[in-house]
Amino acid sequence: MPIYSAPVRDTRYVLDAVLQVERYANLPGFENAAGDMIEAVLAEGARFCEEVLFPLNQSGDQQGCTRHPDGSVTTPAGFKAAYAAFAEGGWPTLAAPAEFGGQAMPHIVSTAFEEYLVSANMGFAMYNGLTMGAIAAILAKGSDAQKATYLPRMVAGTWSGTMNLTEPHAGTDLGMIRTRAEPQADGSHAITGTKIFISSGEQDLTENIIHLVLAKVSGAPDNVKGISLFIVPKYLVGPDGSLGARNAVSCGAIEDKMGIHANATCVMNYDGATGFLIGEENKGLAAMFIMMNAARLGVGLQGLAVGEVAYQNAVRYARERRQGRAPTGPADPGEKADTLFVHPDIRRMLMEAKALLEGARALCLWGALQVDLAHHAPDEGERQAADDLISLLTPVIKGHVTDIGYQVATNAQQVYGGHGYVRENGMEQYVRDARISMIYEGTNGVQAMDLVGRKLAANGGRAVQTWFRLLGEEIAGGRAEPATADVAARLESAVGQLRAATQWLMQNGVANPNHAGAAAYPYMTLMGVVTLGWMWLRMARASAAAIAAGQGDRAFHEAKLVTARFYAERILPDAGALRRKIEGGAEAVMALPIEAF
Ligand SMILES: Cc1cc2nc3c(=O)[nH]c(=O)nc-3n(C[C@H](O)[C@H](O)[C@H](O)COP(=O)(O)OP(=O)(O)OC[C@H]3O[C@@H](n4cnc5c(N)ncnc54)[C@H](O)[C@@H]3O)c2cc1C
Repeated sequence: MPIYSAPVRDTRYVLDAVLQVERYANLPGFENAAGDMIEAVLAEGARFCEEVLFPLNQSGDQQGCTRHPDGSVTTPAGFKAAYAAFAEGGWPTLAAPAEFGGQAMPHIVSTAFEEYLVSANMGFAMYNGLTMGAIAAILAKGSDAQKATYLPRMVAGTWSGTMNLTEPHAGTDLGMIRTRAEPQADGSHAITGTKIFISSGEQDLTENIIHLVLAKVSGAPDNVKGISLFIVPKYLVGPDGSLGARNAVSCGAIEDKMGIHANATCVMNYDGATGFLIGEENKGLAAMFIMMNAARLGVGLQGLAVGEVAYQNAVRYARERRQGRAPTGPADPGEKADTLFVHPDIRRMLMEAKALLEGARALCLWGALQVDLAHHAPDEGERQAADDLISLLTPVIKGHVTDIGYQVATNAQQVYGGHGYVRENGMEQYVRDARISMIYEGTNGVQAMDLVGRKLAANGGRAVQTWFRLLGEEIAGGRAEPATADVAARLESAVGQLRAATQWLMQNGVANPNHAGAAAYPYMTLMGVVTLGWMWLRMARASAAAIAAGQGDRAFHEAKLVTARFYAERILPDAGALRRKIEGGAEAVMALPIEAF
């Protein structure tokens, strides 16, 4: 049976020693996380995830969701009770605004908890994750009446939310959607069309489902400029919040898919369903992007979370399984064989996983802090800098961290050998579950193009310049300390490769857009390699300082220094190869005629 133990200690380390969240105690929301509050939330959240949700992960995958002839959907056994306990415990409300019944905790605290939630049970976590995205869009673009009608129950978890963008012929290219919205005399719209791949589209966990749907109002331009966003509740809602008639929206089928079986991915049919416009007509894509940007950070976190649980199991297995002997001679002469841990190739996979995951955790929590600062920092300049940084690095968090999650899950499976390939041990589920995070919320290829095509050049490159300055300051600080000088020097060299690649892109990407397209993915990876290197230098400096001051658990901090060294020696060198790939341009990529494939 797989195991999972929430990495509360490592979360606390990032929050306290690396990001020093106590420095932000004066920000709105952070007063709700004062003193022992963060500790209490993480400890209780960890317990809930480990004891209630994790035991349903494997059974939920094996059982999946069932659609009945009337279009209703049953989630796997145990999910309904677990969801009731989840809502009862107030977990959906963590970061939601107090005026709608939320606890108004900092985003960084809810992000820390969400990692545990997804590790424990990704399929379950997605019922809540989509709701949080829908809440974000209604908060940003909904009218006061819409907020009052929908948000309190969505925040409480009594109602859930979904996002309906994709259609059979329109995925990345949303300008092509065909779902229509016909204006009605009472100001509502009649929504007609078919959406596919809709996560949590139907389920038996909540009393109502609030679908957010992209559609084109009759007569609107037939491209991205003609898309509007609508609220389409499963049950219409009376002025007093009571549930009324069933709306003309139904689940036509559940997709038969590779992973996240416990989450119902639905074909949704809208047959003249009553919908209510959110925000301005034809500005729906912008409204949806508010939701998407938050959701992309959440999907990045999924990469970390699934990688983490897979890694924990691989570590346990490598401690227990005995095969062969250490290359340097028997480690356990009294046994017939040594544990897998003695083999450098097993170590390679486990060290890589440890370095990538701990770096990714620091990055995801740093990103969540930027979201808090972008909203709440007292100074306008500070708010803008945080917004710039998180906008720049959102595609990297989504794209690179989900690539890492899949790589780690596959390597964790590899540590199990053939025992990782059979269902019983649970490792193949992690590989299947991790895979989707690279695809949805904009494929990782689309993230890379967003980074290269929009984020780098936004506001004359202001964000990337700020980021290079921060990297430079961190490297200078790291170089000044003997314990971190080598990691800093290696990061400096990788940053040099990134700067050169950025320069090359700026000079060549506009003149030949194929160069930008061919360079985008390796560029996103290069930026991810450097960004995690930055996190590792920050962790190395924090741990070196703790050791020098005699604070905390010395062995824990020493392990951080060793892992930082591993990252610097074994992963940062990829920067040079990635730069050469980027500078290779598009010629060889595009040279062959299609018939030659
Ligand atoms: C399990 C699951 C859950 C999902 N949940 C939801 C949901 O809740 N709501 C929702 O609306 N959608 C959802 N989706 C849909 C998902 O977001 C899309 O599948 C994804 O955005 C890609 O769209 P597509 O599948 O049509 O692929 P396409 O857009 O057809 O892309 C195919 C390939 O071409 C590449 N590509 C496409 N356009 C370009 C371009 N311009 N330049 C370069 N490369 C390009 C892509 O990167 C990809 O590799 C879900 C999908 C799955 C499988």
